[in-house]
Amino acid sequence: MSQLNKFKRHTVTSALPYANGPLHIGHLAGAYLPADIFVRYLRLKKKDVVYICGSDEHGAAITIKAKKEGTTPQAIIDKYHNQIKDSFEEFGIAFDIYHRTSSPIHHDLSQEFFLNLYEKDEFIEKYSEQYFDEDYGQFLADRYITGTCPNCGYEHAYGDQCENCGTSLNPTDLINPISTLSGKAPILRPTKHWYLPLDKYQPWLESWIDKKEGEWKVNVFGQCRSWLKSGLQPRSMTRDLDWGIDVPLDEAKGKKLYVWMDAPIGYISATKQWAIDNGKDWKAYWKKQKNEEDNSCLIHFIGKDNIVFHCIIFPSILHAHGEYILPQNVPANEFLNLEGEKLSTSRNHAVWLHEYLEEFPGKQDELRYVLTSILPETSDSEFTWKDYQARVNNELVAILGNYVNRVMILMHKFYDGKVETESGEIKLTDNLLNAQLGEFYTELDQNLENYKFRQALQNVMDIARLGNKYLTDKEPWKTIKTNPDDAKEALHNCLFLIAHLATCLQPFLPGTATKIFGMLNYNLSGVSFGDAIKFENGHQLNPAALLFEKVEDEVIEKQVQKLLDKKQAAAVTKQTLVAAKENISFESFAAMDIRTGTILAAEKVAKTKKLLKLTIDTGIDERTVVSGIAEYYEPEAIIGKQVSILVNLEPREIKGILSQGMILMAEDSEGKLCFVSPVDALHNGSVVR
Ligand SMILES: [Zn+2]
Repeated sequence: MSQLNKFKRHTVTSALPYANGPLHIGHLAGAYLPADIFVRYLRLKKKDVVYICGSDEHGAAITIKAKKEGTTPQAIIDKYHNQIKDSFEEFGIAFDIYHRTSSPIHHDLSQEFFLNLYEKDEFIEKYSEQYFDEDYGQFLADRYITGTCPNCGYEHAYGDQCENCGTSLNPTDLINPISTLSGKAPILRPTKHWYLPLDKYQPWLESWIDKKEGEWKVNVFGQCRSWLKSGLQPRSMTRDLDWGIDVPLDEAKGKKLYVWMDAPIGYISATKQWAIDNGKDWKAYWKKQKNEEDNSCLIHFIGKDNIVFHCIIFPSILHAHGEYILPQNVPANEFLNLEGEKLSTSRNHAVWLHEYLEEFPGKQDELRYVLTSILPETSDSEFTWKDYQARVNNELVAILGNYVNRVMILMHKFYDGKVETESGEIKLTDNLLNAQLGEFYTELDQNLENYKFRQALQNVMDIARLGNKYLTDKEPWKTIKTNPDDAKEALHNCLFLIAHLATCLQPFLPGTATKIFGMLNYNLSGVSFGDAIKFENGHQLNPAALLFEKVEDEVIEKQVQKLLDKKQAAAVTKQTLVAAKENISFESFAAMDIRTGTILAAEKVAKTKKLLKLTIDTGIDERTVVSGIAEYYEPEAIIGKQVSILVNLEPREIKGILSQGMILMAEDSEGKLCFVSPVDALHNGSVVR
């Protein structure tokens, strides 16, 4: 029996994207495209399914981004929530709801979960030493701290996870921890937190996960086993942060829930909101039913960096709560690389979805097709623009588009687009075609059910390949003169293939499927997976329209160049930064007498390009300083400006002028100079230290 038929309902989720940046093709290929294909397939089979996603709007990643952009966390989440939501809509990712974890319904439900576990005495409450940044007066949770991963040696692991090996960490596990706020080594301070006793759940987790062997993907199952083997530790579910969901306890004022406690609960709160909006019962999709066979089938689509949260931590929370179903499967994908390198937000090495939409308007299905063809289902895979071009030109244009176009043109040329026979019956008359079509459906069904979307897409393309071969064999453009009945029969058979092709394309290329049904003048909403297609005698087709366009070389070259330019820009900034100098004693520093002063007069030094002669009021005296800033500042523009000046530098003669001291300047990687001035006006002669 098909796995799918075991369940009355399906609850499908895609990982909640962090609302701290736009989406790129790696996101799409990781957790969204596969889930969307799967959900569209279930809907095509008329299954009861709800597809849930939303923005993850809590956690240190949000507050750090806000600080970086000089704005508020609220402004960050509003901006990126809307941008991400738009991108998903444009690419046809057909969520039933795209929700937000900043919503009150989500805050309420997350607190309810916490209190449920708290009242059952599940948490371990303990004071522990946590890292604290003295300069910023703040504890360093999660992404506020980086260091070397004790598991794999990766140097940029975060306080809660190493993104290189996927291991979940505590900040105190990091080797050489550094605060991302001050860039300094933090100190330890005691603070109280509430820990989920994963060690206590370990035996239960082991027996639950053991049963998934053979059903879960090898990479997912293997990761879980390896974590269990090394032994689970209690994990804090609370944080000392100022952004997030309040811990609902009087003694925890100012503390927030750990973002990975609340984020997965976001799937449930989003379902609740959807149920309210649509008059449905959310409990049927999440809670254990009286009879086990009535439970919904819960499936989490994620990228491999989220496996620990969806296979270990969230199931432990659901188990401890007791009323909820557990995931049936977690088909995590590996990573997608780009042009031979890892996709990287920080290095801007990515194909951004919002940029693609601008540069390739109306070509969403082309990207869906290419990404589905190379989904990192069992190992990392790679996107290149050359491959994009080859797949669009050699497969979408040459096979799929060509087949549909040829048939439609001939139908209009010979019969004015009318599907008509004298017998009054229109049916698929070729037994061989019928049998082959049946085989494709069976394979397609199996592949989709087993999350093998790459192979499934090939099954669909095989229908188009079959059609092209059939059309070439039958040559209706010749037989129309010698045996017109044969020509008509062949073209009608081709139309049936097109209708089946469009049906099967729906999960993969929804826009293209809609276009084809439009040409066929066929009602798409009545179509279901594997059903017979019917044409009434006299059915009128709509005019043929082109499905895909060839991608020209210069389009691809431009994209490759764009990536190279970004890389170069990133490299320039990085390489030209001077390495840190050796440590000096405080005494050496204190020996420098740096003061604030005001520029009283400024003039160019004759016969030089770079030098200005400045008269400075240092508070202690008025003196002359020669400074190499003429390329950056006009003399008249800087009179009255307050600067920092090193007053005890040995006087030196420059171009015949005695220079007494040095103005402090900051120099960027391109050599641009800028005064280091006090932010607020100070008395001249104030000491800089
Ligand atoms: Zn690691």
